[in-house]
Amino acid sequence: MKLTVCWNWLGHLLPPACSLCGGAFSHLAEEPFCPGCMATIICLPQARCSCCALPFASSSALSPHLCGRCVQQLPAYAVTYAAALYQGPLRSVIGRFKFQQHPNLDRPLAGLLLKYLPAQLDVDLLVPVPLHPFRLRERTYNQALLLARELGRVRRLPTAHDVLGKCRSTSPQQSLSAAQRRVNLRGAFVLNRDVRGKKILLVDDVMTTGVTVDLCSQVLLAGGAARVDVAVVARAPLG
Ligand SMILES: [Zn+2]
Ligand SMILES: [Zn+2]
Repeated sequence: MKLTVCWNWLGHLLPPACSLCGGAFSHLAEEPFCPGCMATIICLPQARCSCCALPFASSSALSPHLCGRCVQQLPAYAVTYAAALYQGPLRSVIGRFKFQQHPNLDRPLAGLLLKYLPAQLDVDLLVPVPLHPFRLRERTYNQALLLARELGRVRRLPTAHDVLGKCRSTSPQQSLSAAQRRVNLRGAFVLNRDVRGKKILLVDDVMTTGVTVDLCSQVLLAGGAARVDVAVVARAPLG
């Protein structure tokens, strides 16, 4: 206990480090990572789906339009805000945040997302994508909740940690296609609170196929939510 206190106290005295590369970096800086690391983060191109933010292969300036997948099956959410592409060092740092017990990465990662969120958000409530209680016990924290809380703290918006629940444990999804994910997650999310008339920003760390956020949005809208938008730190380039 004494050691922990001492270490925390020392932590305040040591020069703050960039949480991506470990290099010296002022915590008073406006950017979430050091300039070298910020240069490795690939922003989402302007040419992207107007609903799920999937980057288009062609970078030519076109009027906003939907990707092929959203044309086929329009997601329940309206808009996706994503800070960067799920690639390179950002992908590794999100892996550390999620799987290697680094909950303190919530602040820089939320900071990155905040840079790309509109200054004026028409939102009543932030809702994180839930984890199944079994996974929560294993990981000890829900990374989406940490991000939502940090966004809420900065933007002065309420975060509701228990609006959505995951009632069924599902197999890992990394290797599954969008259709397989939809089957894997069917009926997995439940609504625990009244959301009638609320404009909700659903928060997660990464969006790959978008199936998880779509199913969560369906549950929220079925419960009477007025609108659901999605905010993620990183968007996978290929859904
Ligand atoms: Zn760095
Ligand atoms: Zn799309």
